[in-house]
Amino acid sequence: MESRASDLGDRSAPEGEPHETALRRGVFLFDIDGTLMRSGGAGAIAFRHAFREWCGIDPSRVPVSMAGRTDLEILRLTLDAVGAPYPRPADRRRLVRIYLDHLRREILVPERAAPLPGVVALLDGLHARRLPVGLVTGNIQPGATIKLAAAGLADRFDFGAFGNDREDRDELVPVALRRLRRRHGAEPRPRDVWVVGDTLRDVQCARAAGVRILAVGTGFEDQLALESARPDLYLTDLSDTARVLRRLGATMAAEAPGP
Ligand SMILES: [Mg+2]
Repeated sequence: MESRASDLGDRSAPEGEPHETALRRGVFLFDIDGTLMRSGGAGAIAFRHAFREWCGIDPSRVPVSMAGRTDLEILRLTLDAVGAPYPRPADRRRLVRIYLDHLRREILVPERAAPLPGVVALLDGLHARRLPVGLVTGNIQPGATIKLAAAGLADRFDFGAFGNDREDRDELVPVALRRLRRRHGAEPRPRDVWVVGDTLRDVQCARAAGVRILAVGTGFEDQLALESARPDLYLTDLSDTARVLRRLGATMAAEAPGP
């Protein structure tokens, strides 16, 4: 994903449009699970198998709620719950290898991975408008790639922040925007940045970064709880592409808003 960053300038800044102006038309940071796609619990199943294989303890004895958490956070909470010490880097790398092997298998179980309603059309719409589209996800980067590929969504994202960048999801939006800035040479205004996510933790991470949040009801949070968190925008799903693009203020280059 990072390696495709060189495409970003081409895609997000139409010829003749200054980068600052282009960024005012919107920057979009998508969560993966429950927002872009469903995976039928493949990640949780893969983690359970991997953890057991890695240290001999079945983590489902002490289930940790995974929704909206980063992979690093899930690992630390699980280790705490089973009373195991935090592993050294080499041990952690071994766990990651085992996890990814399981994930590659589990995600391919028929009927598990699929994009959620409207997601493909929405991404097409954002790309047609040459707007920067990135990821802010709790998944470690290779896990994110495996999941997105299984849903046919690989190669849709030019930058992002991942569960291996930070344990605290609240720190991920600034990481993603730093990467965008490095490649783009300009910084978006917080009010032009949207996080799109399905949990209270997505709402929280957008707030922590001072950017906007579109909460969607397609994932792992109670609808009432999500709406009560007063996101900038709440939609039950992303299926009405024209409406979503309008509500996000995602405009074509010619319709770019003024300062
Ligand atoms: Mg999610």
